[in-house]
Amino acid sequence: MILKKGFDIIRYFIMKDTGNELDAWKSVIQMRAFALLISSYYILLMTYCIVLVHPMSFLICSCALIMILLGLGLTFGEKRSIAGEYIFFSSLFMIVFSVWIYGWNSGVQHFLFVLLIYYFLLDYASMYRKVIYGAGLLVVRLFLFAYTLSHRPYFTVPNKDIMIAQIMNTVTIFAMCIFLVSLGSMKSLQLQEYCAVERKAAIHDPLTGLCNRRAIFESMRQVSTVAMADIDFFKKINDTYGHAAGDKVLQILGSILQEYMGPFGTIVRWGGEEFVFFFHGLTLEQTMDRMEELRTLLEHEDFIYENQRIPVTLTIGVAQKYEYENIYDTINRADQKLYKGKENGRDTIVA
Ligand code: GH3
Ligand code: MG
Ligand code: MG
Repeated sequence: MILKKGFDIIRYFIMKDTGNELDAWKSVIQMRAFALLISSYYILLMTYCIVLVHPMSFLICSCALIMILLGLGLTFGEKRSIAGEYIFFSSLFMIVFSVWIYGWNSGVQHFLFVLLIYYFLLDYASMYRKVIYGAGLLVVRLFLFAYTLSHRPYFTVPNKDIMIAQIMNTVTIFAMCIFLVSLGSMKSLQLQEYCAVERKAAIHDPLTGLCNRRAIFESMRQVSTVAMADIDFFKKINDTYGHAAGDKVLQILGSILQEYMGPFGTIVRWGGEEFVFFFHGLTLEQTMDRMEELRTLLEHEDFIYENQRIPVTLTIGVAQKYEYENIYDTINRADQKLYKGKENGRDTIVA
């Protein structure tokens, strides 16, 4: 219970001022979490220094803690990239400094890997800069190795303490790597979900819920016939009952058409009050029959808006798709048939 409460507080603190859900995984969250993890590590080290009665190390850890808390503070500022760079360079400085005074055996140099992952997950930095920084970290590591080969550490730490420090460092490094990598994969999962939602929205019409033109290439290969339907005198419906009534008619018609189409193909809201049916595996005659069925069905359908019954009829043009014909040419032919239907007096089907 207390643990959950604590977790919620940390979560709130980290996510503060990050805007929408997707933003929650932006760099700033990563920076704050990184700074918090490092801070807890320093606090742990400070406790250990008290146990060891090593005031110098305690002082160093306190300075490091202040430095990283400053970075945490910067993440709440306007320029997030400044915070990101500051956290990177201050941590790098602490790593180099610690290896210099405690030696290679302290294992602090392995934090360079954490820093590498940290920097590569930042949103604002370009790939070019990331590679440069990555190469820089490699040089620093090689330099530290060479340096510690020929220089003794500033503090000679007893083996027992080195072992405890190694364990603490290793656990922290693993925890941070796991955390950062999980954050990265969570971020990419969230982006995938976001893309799927956006893609769905992009190929659907928000008013009727039907597909729009962008969706037509999804299943165009099996199309056998195309029918184009247009509501008769729709402008008059708008003028007589109001635009909202017109919208309601489109919505009701959209769901009727969708239900009617069922598994026989795809229906697309082509434009304002025009709909295109893409049938799979139906002959021209079968398509004509289905359209005739639809036409009579609409005669008995109730389009009710504010207790008023609005009569709705369709004029439909039908065309068969030839094997090597471009789908747009078939649609054009269906459109021409539709035009003929309008000329012939509407509420009809022309093939
Ligand atoms: P016809 O029988 O020749 O097709 O006549 P029509 O009045 O249906 O055709 P016209 O092209 O003259 O008018 C179509 C109207 O459809 C005009 C436009 O304002 C209306 N419209 C288009 N999209 C929407 C919409 O999303 N909602 C509403 N309410 N009206 C729309
Ligand atoms: Mg019309
Ligand atoms: Mg029209």
